[in-house]
Amino acid sequence: MIDNVFVLGDQQSIANEFIAELRDHTIQKDRLRFRRNMERLGELLAYEISKTLRYEKRKIETPLGHTLLQLLKEYPVLVTILRAGIPFHHGFLNVFDKADCGFIGAYRNENEDSITVTMNYISVPSIEGKAVVLLDPMLATGRSVLDAHKLLLKQGTPSHVYIVSVVAAPEGIRLLKDNLSSPYSLWTCAVDEKLNTSFYIVPGLGDAGDLSYGDKV
Ligand code: URA
Repeated sequence: MIDNVFVLGDQQSIANEFIAELRDHTIQKDRLRFRRNMERLGELLAYEISKTLRYEKRKIETPLGHTLLQLLKEYPVLVTILRAGIPFHHGFLNVFDKADCGFIGAYRNENEDSITVTMNYISVPSIEGKAVVLLDPMLATGRSVLDAHKLLLKQGTPSHVYIVSVVAAPEGIRLLKDNLSSPYSLWTCAVDEKLNTSFYIVPGLGDAGDLSYGDKV
């Protein structure tokens, strides 16, 4: 991890096969496969994050005796920005299966030379003193994450915020670095080159929401 940023794709692992399939413009047409690859990457990143959480030794009784195991002191709260985050969220929930979950609905308003994000739905449990995993698969401008974080703070002060994406743009990373008030770290599969004039990540993979669920009007 360099400067609080963990990049899964910098390592030689099977994760790169999943990232390649998400990006490949022919393979990504298979929506079921696209969603499943998002989910698989969620599972792998959840495992990486699990190594940084707090553990305590607890006694487990087996049918034949007992053993001491290092078990999670507390599950993180998983908060996902809709709609592109849904398959990614499932991956995290497959690993942190006892986690409380929150959801924030957001959509982009694209203008000629700027972009704003409207948040129109929030359902989040208390996050007071808790580790929060904030999931947004495409960290483009960083605006959605920043606005979601502001809303989250109304539900308490988190101990740490894990910002998690599949692809991140340098512009988004910079916005978070300059503005995020909570202690945080960024976990992503790839850091790409830049945003284009429509604020999409290049080379990126396209619109993650549309690729998962179809075009919107
Ligand atoms: N959202 C997406 O789905 N893709 C991008 O490249 C940027 C934001």
